[in-house]
Amino acid sequence: MRRNSEMTEDIAIVGGGPAGAYLGYLLGQRGINAAIYDDSHPREKPCGGGITPSAREKFPLLREIPSSYRYVDKILFISPEGKEAMVGGQTLMNVSREHLDGYLLHQAVDAGAQLVEERVTGVVEEANTWRIRTEKGEYRSRLIVGADGVNSVVRDSTVGRISRDDIGACIGYFARDVERDYNVMRFFKGFQGYAWIFPRETHSSIGVGLDIKQAKNLKGYLDGFIDEYCPGIEKISPYGALIPAARHPGFYKLPCAGANWVLIGDAAGHVDPILGEGIRYALWDAELAAEAIIDGKPKRFDSLWRQACYQDFVEACRLREFVYDPGMLERGVDLISRSETFAGIMMGIVAGTQSYSGLWGRVINSLPRMIAEAKQDRAPGKG
Ligand SMILES: Cc1cc2nc3c(=O)[nH]c(=O)nc-3n(C[C@H](O)[C@H](O)[C@H](O)COP(=O)(O)OP(=O)(O)OC[C@H]3O[C@@H](n4cnc5c(N)ncnc54)[C@H](O)[C@@H]3O)c2cc1C
Repeated sequence: MRRNSEMTEDIAIVGGGPAGAYLGYLLGQRGINAAIYDDSHPREKPCGGGITPSAREKFPLLREIPSSYRYVDKILFISPEGKEAMVGGQTLMNVSREHLDGYLLHQAVDAGAQLVEERVTGVVEEANTWRIRTEKGEYRSRLIVGADGVNSVVRDSTVGRISRDDIGACIGYFARDVERDYNVMRFFKGFQGYAWIFPRETHSSIGVGLDIKQAKNLKGYLDGFIDEYCPGIEKISPYGALIPAARHPGFYKLPCAGANWVLIGDAAGHVDPILGEGIRYALWDAELAAEAIIDGKPKRFDSLWRQACYQDFVEACRLREFVYDPGMLERGVDLISRSETFAGIMMGIVAGTQSYSGLWGRVINSLPRMIAEAKQDRAPGKG
């Protein structure tokens, strides 16, 4: 089909990552053929690529990725002082984003979405129509969806850029460290975030991040982490990226949709501000946006995502300081190693099966058992 500025599309999705591609796929399945603007594929997006059991359960499509992924069923937690606790009980999937995103985009195009391989340089609303500028031309659309990640140009023209305070910074390497059959999460004193090793099928993602206040020290943390836990790894390529990581619950009060615009995924800031999980929320947003758009009421997306995730994001924001308190991290990793119940709760958080809003209730209810387990572990003759 010929495309030019004279045509007005019904729906333009800027960004063909998980959020935009999955939305294009869901709309296509209902006979609504959106245009997806993205010039980046194929590419390996800076990411851990960790897909939680909860994401796989909710989105069976994730279980159908033809390649390149790897399942691990253990996580090594390391405290700021270096205490280690290996925990199992949940199966995590680590994917290559080149393959995951490529697969989702392929599904979208197969379902009828039109891929426009151009980078959008700006969007402007004029008389109820969006004028979309790309490096190659200009287009128009009645509805615009910002699925263009943390630096969203659609967000710039609607609610405005995510403030520096509500953003995290990450750096890392894709590297050959594929013998490892467990994920690593290493915490640091005075650092709201962690370093990770997520082994994938053909390479690993090794990185450190979230705390923007530590942005200038990230390289030091990363180098120290590699020296300690995987010295001599063969680095393939370095990466650096920003990630939404809200510090203030008020961040989530901003609207994510209007009469003719919607923001989803990272563009909406919908990433777990403690652990940085975003793929599940990107797909979830896409599902809810599809529902609102098919219903002819894009603005409804704003109430749909609030019903689904608002409370949990706000609770995570409130817990962030507490969780990353160095004393808490030290005691937490110690308790993980001594109480099976507490280890299960922590694995639930990482696996996305334990909500933040239900966390306190679960911890309080499990306290007697956790204390008994920890005492038993300390009993003379144990270990
Ligand atoms: C270092 C790091 C590690 C992470 N690890 C994990 C993890 O292990 N598990 C997890 O669940 N989440 C993780 N995340 C978060 C996760 O990567 C994101 O939340 C997720 O990718 C969001 O999907 P999205 O589709 O909203 O945005 P993105 O994946 O960012 O996709 C946006 C797409 O839009 C395109 N785009 C951007 N601007 C334009 C433009 N102007 N014009 C056209 N196209 C444009 C981009 O090329 C991209 O393809 C991590 C993030 C980082 C930075």
